[in-house]
Amino acid sequence: MPSIFADGFKDTPYWWEAAPPITGDDSLPTDSQTESNVIIIGSGFAGLSAAMELGRHGVDVTVIDAGIIGIGASSRAAGFISGRAGVSKQINLEKMVGERHATAILEEADEAYQHFQRIIAREDIDCDFNGNGRFVGAYTPQSYEAIAKKTEEYNRDGQNRFFMVNRQEQDTYVKSDYFHGGMVTRDAGSLNPAKYHAGLVKTCRRYGVKLIGNTRATKINKTHAGFTVTTNRGNLKADQVLLATGGYTDRVSPWHQKRIIPMSSTIIATEPIGKSRVDAMLPLGCAVIDTRRVIRFARPSPDGTRLLFGGRARFTPIDARKSVRILHSYMREMFPGMADVSITHSWAGFMAFTFDFLPKIGRHDDVHYAMACNGGAGVVMMSWLGFQAARNIMQSTNQPSAFEGLPFKTMPFYSGMPWFVPIIGTWYRFRDWYDLRRSV
Ligand SMILES: Cc1cc2nc3c(=O)[nH]c(=O)nc-3n(C[C@H](O)[C@H](O)[C@H](O)COP(=O)(O)OP(=O)(O)OC[C@H]3O[C@@H](n4cnc5c(N)ncnc54)[C@H](O)[C@@H]3O)c2cc1C
Repeated sequence: MPSIFADGFKDTPYWWEAAPPITGDDSLPTDSQTESNVIIIGSGFAGLSAAMELGRHGVDVTVIDAGIIGIGASSRAAGFISGRAGVSKQINLEKMVGERHATAILEEADEAYQHFQRIIAREDIDCDFNGNGRFVGAYTPQSYEAIAKKTEEYNRDGQNRFFMVNRQEQDTYVKSDYFHGGMVTRDAGSLNPAKYHAGLVKTCRRYGVKLIGNTRATKINKTHAGFTVTTNRGNLKADQVLLATGGYTDRVSPWHQKRIIPMSSTIIATEPIGKSRVDAMLPLGCAVIDTRRVIRFARPSPDGTRLLFGGRARFTPIDARKSVRILHSYMREMFPGMADVSITHSWAGFMAFTFDFLPKIGRHDDVHYAMACNGGAGVVMMSWLGFQAARNIMQSTNQPSAFEGLPFKTMPFYSGMPWFVPIIGTWYRFRDWYDLRRSV
């Protein structure tokens, strides 16, 4: 049997072939007391979107990152993008926050998607964006009913942008017997996240933002004049600080670390198999997600010649080659014809989850924060929350985000080490297996 590892296999994101992360070479002199209006900790979509908005308005901004610029989740995402289809996937939003607030959240998620499209047009960011839509496939007949209810919730605005297709009709979007029908929305698409990130870097630089890589913030101290941020390379002073550290949040802010659950997600890219073979699986080039608790997803590469496939190979970090073996078997379950295809890239990253599955923006001890996408929605949502945080910092809006003011909960004895994630993950996998068995 041929190897599932292609010659020259890499354990780095496929995206980095087109847009490798950059070092962030703006220097920070050792033992400096460098001063900025705003320091942003974290150089992902949240941090850079905030920096771009602040820089555009003449604010002196410095972004620091513990690694090279964009090393976190942002250059590792699968690149699925949408508006309201990205929030409240796991929860009953109305029950949690009430009907009016739920409506405001869904409308703001749509606005976030529009905002993303305006930004890439305004700043001329080439990121292989397409609006090919999304198919959320039911992996059991029972889950078809559940996703049909979500469709009703999303359509409550009267615009009917979401619709259900049955097993016979789903061939238009995905050719796979794995699904029992599903929800379609054309109001979604995909992109190359690393190219989008590189575009934000370029735009930030154009607006005079300083980007400093390999600089870990270890402490934030409030002073009478503002803040001092202690880093492994010296101290930085600023009037305001924004924490945008996502699933990589560490002890720089124990309060936030206790409220964020880092969750590993993994992706593989196949060798080039040709456009016609990819089109035979995904005729409209749309992104596909299933409804398992432990999700699986697939999409074409931007040039349409490869399949990118992902999911939770494990809930904790995993060796790239092990991840290939697991994800390849999942891919074969969805697309049996892919058994002979080898893998060129396998990578992983940390998503940020919260205990109530809602994104967070606000202020704690006067430090601004924007974090947590709760699954594959952070490209649009974290860009939006970064933008919103910038507006809060500049006090340029009197209309708070619908995501502001929500409780940011933790759990007793949780300090940021998610010991319970593998246990819950195993339980979820069992439930998925059980539901599937029950349905046959
Ligand atoms: C495998 C995978 C697939 C995904 N797929 C999708 C998808 O298809 N669609 C979608 O919308 N979203 C997806 N996501 C989620 C999305 O990538 C994230 O929500 C988003 O990129 C988070 O952006 P961020 O700016 O909040 O955080 P990040 O991009 O994670 O950036 C946080 C940064 O903070 C830095 N940092 C942390 N602590 C410190 C410190 N003390 N000092 C200095 N720097 C620090 C880290 O080094 C990191 O670079 C995916 C995520 C992963 C991992």
